[in-house]
Amino acid sequence: MKLKLNRRQFTRNISLGIAALGLSRITSFSSPNKQPQVAITMDDFDVYDTPTLSGMARNRAILAALNQHNLKASIFVTGKYVDNETNIALLRLWNKEGHTIGNHTYSHWYYPDVSFQKYAEDILRNEILLKQLPRYRKYFRFPFLKEGNTSEQRDQMRAFLQDHGYRNGHVTIDASDWYVDGRLRERLKRDPKADLAPYREFYLNHIWDRAIYYDNLSREVLGRSARHTLLIHHNVLNGLFLNDLLQMFRNKDWGLIDSEEAYKDSVFSSAPKIVPAGESIIWALAKETGRFDKMLRYPGEDGDYEKPKMDALRL
Ligand SMILES: [Zn+2]
Repeated sequence: MKLKLNRRQFTRNISLGIAALGLSRITSFSSPNKQPQVAITMDDFDVYDTPTLSGMARNRAILAALNQHNLKASIFVTGKYVDNETNIALLRLWNKEGHTIGNHTYSHWYYPDVSFQKYAEDILRNEILLKQLPRYRKYFRFPFLKEGNTSEQRDQMRAFLQDHGYRNGHVTIDASDWYVDGRLRERLKRDPKADLAPYREFYLNHIWDRAIYYDNLSREVLGRSARHTLLIHHNVLNGLFLNDLLQMFRNKDWGLIDSEEAYKDSVFSSAPKIVPAGESIIWALAKETGRFDKMLRYPGEDGDYEKPKMDALRL
């Protein structure tokens, strides 16, 4: 079966079954300062149920993984997924555990296709909903990492966000976990007892590959390793494997840091003047120099890049 998913069309309406949910205990230790550091930023908080892993169980597993590593993350929330008492109660668990809650628009529109006015109103609509949570902070994450296709669109929104006290909740390490998640759920729909180990392996390898790529690009462009913010999603894949992902970074001697610590890095104050605007902030800064075009594909990440690899592995 062919999955026609790309970042823009990404939907979550695939039913599934999950056979087992395993989380192991780990020991924490610190990494040397010169090693790269990475924070977790998670988009699209959403607690739709799946046949054997409810939204509540998935949420609990993700929070447990962060807790095991004593890590505070940022969760970027789209209002339409939480605008009811049941779901916002689950989001409150993030608040209670000290994670940072950021704005990811109410409707998750694709900014290049929407007027500035309409999009700005959608950000404020989400703010009204989320500001009831004490851990709400004015970080804004563009859905699809799309910050505008013209300089006018880009700069209008930059000015709007600044006027309203927002910072861009930039990503340094972009990835396609959402695509791997879609394929995993498709597989479970066909075969509820499928062996998920190869999906775990693919996922960890994919994130590691992207982490190395963006860290190398950071060293090229900034002359140093930025404090990284990894973009992943609140999905089944991370309900199953977030703990393994965090352990992988530790095994490779990367430090895990709280997202608000990461956002203190000066790289997040930069505002590269490129169009189309968006992508990873490291990618965008590299693009702006004009010196790295051989290392830069567009978009930076997409399911289309991962599809042939997953097809070859029959995943
Ligand atoms: Zn999103």
